[in-house]
Amino acid sequence: MAWTNEDVAGRFSEIATLLKLKGEDAFRVRAYERAAAAIGAASVDLATVSPDQLSELKGIGASTAKKITEYLETGTIGMLEELRAGVPPGLVELVRIPGLGPKTAAILHAELGVDSVESLRHAIEAGQLRGLKGLGAKTEANLRDSIVRMGAKHDERVPAADAIAIAGELCTRLRALPGVDEVVYAGSLRRMRDTIGDVDLLAASSDPEPVMAALRDSDLVERVIAAGEKKTSVILRRGIQADLRVVDPVAWGAALVYFTGSKAHNIRIRERAIRRRLSLNEYGLWRIGEDGRDGLLGERVASRTESDVYAALGMQFVPPPMREDTGEVEAAAQGTLPQVVTVADIRGDLHGHSDWSGDGKATLEEMVHAAAERGLAYWAVTDHAENLSINGIDREGMRCRRRAIAELQERVGLRILDGVELNIGIDGSLDYDLEFLLEFDFCVASVHTLLNRPGEEQTARILAAIEHPAVNVIGHPTGRKIGRRPGYDIDLDALVERAVFTGTALELNASPRRFDLSAEHCRRAIEGGALLTISCDAHSVGDLDNLGYGVATAQRGWVPPDRVLNCWDLDRLLDMVNAKRGSRMRKVR
Ligand SMILES: [Zn+2]
Ligand SMILES: [Zn+2]
Repeated sequence: MAWTNEDVAGRFSEIATLLKLKGEDAFRVRAYERAAAAIGAASVDLATVSPDQLSELKGIGASTAKKITEYLETGTIGMLEELRAGVPPGLVELVRIPGLGPKTAAILHAELGVDSVESLRHAIEAGQLRGLKGLGAKTEANLRDSIVRMGAKHDERVPAADAIAIAGELCTRLRALPGVDEVVYAGSLRRMRDTIGDVDLLAASSDPEPVMAALRDSDLVERVIAAGEKKTSVILRRGIQADLRVVDPVAWGAALVYFTGSKAHNIRIRERAIRRRLSLNEYGLWRIGEDGRDGLLGERVASRTESDVYAALGMQFVPPPMREDTGEVEAAAQGTLPQVVTVADIRGDLHGHSDWSGDGKATLEEMVHAAAERGLAYWAVTDHAENLSINGIDREGMRCRRRAIAELQERVGLRILDGVELNIGIDGSLDYDLEFLLEFDFCVASVHTLLNRPGEEQTARILAAIEHPAVNVIGHPTGRKIGRRPGYDIDLDALVERAVFTGTALELNASPRRFDLSAEHCRRAIEGGALLTISCDAHSVGDLDNLGYGVATAQRGWVPPDRVLNCWDLDRLLDMVNAKRGSRMRKVR
């Protein structure tokens, strides 16, 4: 999502939350929530849209458009400022806890002074909730559970998803400055870790000061922590710290290796350098003199690009997400580093939604055109099946959609796969019946309900779905949402074994909020022989741009392209679908 859209959507969500806390009626709250969703799903960068065109965007009415313009022009919204002044800040944090409504939050705040997740945790532990009016033992147990499920809220790291848009926007802006060759984010964000501590920006320019000044003056920056010659540290608008270093273009590659990390990887390659009588630092790879001294007086062997540095170390280039010292240095030195999937390998996407099911934010036609624009050869529209109570589509609806697909197919070059995202019931059952399921081209099956059940139950229900002839891939297999809820404790090895046996793939959901399977799970699944898909699970046009993050996560998991179904050409993919149907049907009948 473009940074501006994310930023503006955030303000509208905040308005909705504050209205809720003030006890405003649900209809009004809902209107602002809807506006936030529409802004988040807009397919154009709001910063590039003129005020009078805003209300032409889908789901954005005149009053929303007015507030957006106010925000873009003044940096704030009057209504939001008033609301903020009337609500204690701690309450906003409280209602982020799943299952904790504004009424309960108000009671907790008024009676116990609870104003943060942490203080609620203490209040629960001290038994202070007992005896509060309207708060039974069940609420207390639910809240305790929710806090646990939110995970380590107070560790210093934030989901990478929170940093991607703002870091990308900063890079784009700094790159546009005169005299700047390149700007990227390095560090754990470039390695595509699930969560990050801060953002490491690296710029190549022979004149650092104007780049530093541009960061200090940026409206994306809340405050400047340190402004030195070599490094500027700021707190960004999202409360995330960013450090900018400007390096001489000659040292770009060496600096990029150094600041991308990980530390463990860098230690390992520095050791390798020393064994070759070389010395590696952020300025380059240097030959150590006869007297054993290294440093700037020695000869610089490599520094301009990362590839130069790795080549001079006698290693294969290591893709940034693999730089974690989990065997990649040894493999790259021996020339046995596996070739991992790249964005260029991806031919299609096998999990995506349209507004045929309620939570899709774009029409089938918009999604298909956007997928085609991104160079995909096929795109599976996998709207929710009927058992999903709010958003599911019944048989009749699916048949209508099928006719719409056929009609659209006539007009587009990309192949549309008539797909569905099935709901795996607690007993492993699926929507519709076998015959109807076999009418689809491709079926994703996912868990969407009863996420709190223990790991064995989740494993059993997913195993049952894997055995089904029509199921081609298990969507978001652990159900985690990074920073919000941990995944259920599935028996991955059991799933992999049956998935391999039956010809079923496991998904790597590319949404930075999910990355599910995780990189670690992907690596284990690949070692177990599994096939994966890398899927955007797009609910809006912008979500299709998550593919690159999914690919980077797959690289962290050492996933080669031939193990990813959507790197295959369509015939091979459909052969696999048919092969599973053929072999599993014999078992069913
Ligand atoms: Zn799903
Ligand atoms: Zn989905």
